[in-house]
Amino acid sequence: MTNKKIINRWKTSVQNNYGTPSIALVKGSGIVVTDADGKKYLDFLGGIATSILGHAHPSVVKAVTKQIGTLSHVSNFYAHPNAVELAEKLATMTGDKGAKVFFCQSGAEANEAAFKLSRRTGKYKVVAAQGAFHGRTMGALSLTGQPSKREPFLPLIKGVKHVPYGDIDAMRKAVTKRTAMVIIEPIMGEAGVIVPPSDYLLQLRALCDAKGALLVIDAVQTGMGRTGDWFGYEYAGITPDVITLAKGLGGGLPLGAMIALGKAADLFEPGDHGSTFGGNPVTTAAALSAIKFIETKKILKKVEKQGLHLIQELALIPGVKEVRGAGLLIGIELESLKATDIATSMRDHGVLVNAANATTIRIAPALVVSDAQISKFISIFKKVVADAK
Ligand SMILES: *Cc1c(COP(=O)(O)O)cnc(C)c1O
Repeated sequence: MTNKKIINRWKTSVQNNYGTPSIALVKGSGIVVTDADGKKYLDFLGGIATSILGHAHPSVVKAVTKQIGTLSHVSNFYAHPNAVELAEKLATMTGDKGAKVFFCQSGAEANEAAFKLSRRTGKYKVVAAQGAFHGRTMGALSLTGQPSKREPFLPLIKGVKHVPYGDIDAMRKAVTKRTAMVIIEPIMGEAGVIVPPSDYLLQLRALCDAKGALLVIDAVQTGMGRTGDWFGYEYAGITPDVITLAKGLGGGLPLGAMIALGKAADLFEPGDHGSTFGGNPVTTAAALSAIKFIETKKILKKVEKQGLHLIQELALIPGVKEVRGAGLLIGIELESLKATDIATSMRDHGVLVNAANATTIRIAPALVVSDAQISKFISIFKKVVADAK
């Protein structure tokens, strides 16, 4: 089947909530993917920051294959060692060994879980950021600060206020003793890779402490080593009350988590929340193998270095206005070119990226990307921008 055939069938059988896809991908290895016509691409989007070790990574394939042939599902009436091991590992990664984990399948669900957890403080008001993306389900959409995504679905859950991102004074006006939680992305991914002032998270932590509000870090996109540390907030030297994860967590498989630290770890009681597939043996096996690989190969150091190199090199390209981000989550803001045009042209030149907003190209390649692949990306991007000007 060709791209064209698959997309034509897609149009008659799949709902149009995403708009029509441009190509169909059928194969992947490392950071190279192949479409249905046999054309190969350098995948610099990584399934939107999800295929953390690239495609068909041997460690993940081995762990998943072994587990699926042993036991593929366990209900929440019973425990499974993989979920326990992953929960312990995630707790250790947060620096709070007393942290406790709720497993789900996606970012929206992880944020829904955090939202419900915050109700257990006895309060219901929430402060979030304008432009923030926290997911599409009704609760997560209530947290999301993008009017275009919210407005068709009003009314949403009441009590959520959105303030400008990175503006601590706006937060100070909005957060009160009646605030149950503040939810924030360490870097706003979907909004166009927006980085807050360097002391923002530290100030936000102090504000939440003063008002008795939970600080929820939505690390769904920044997490799992993408920005050069595990969750994307560590540079600020803070400890959040809750961390939400998904995207890269399952090494390319659907896995989300809501990690509660400190006192928040005990807010949920039996019967408060649940998910049939939560803590699935196969997806947790994939996550454990991905984390182990990242640790043993010292990937975080490499990611940090590659990020600095990318930011430096991309900023020199004529037509590029600004380069933002950390590690391998980078937004390239264009001076006057349309980001969707550049993304299309990049695809024609064999590189997958996306337009995070009208003027910003986002890249989020797998953390295993090589220096040579990065150089290739930079030279193709340079050519595409020069041709478009
Ligand atoms: C992608 C994303 C989500 C939603 O995740 P889904 O798995 O699509 O539900 C939530 N928060 C952030 C920061 C994201 O980038």
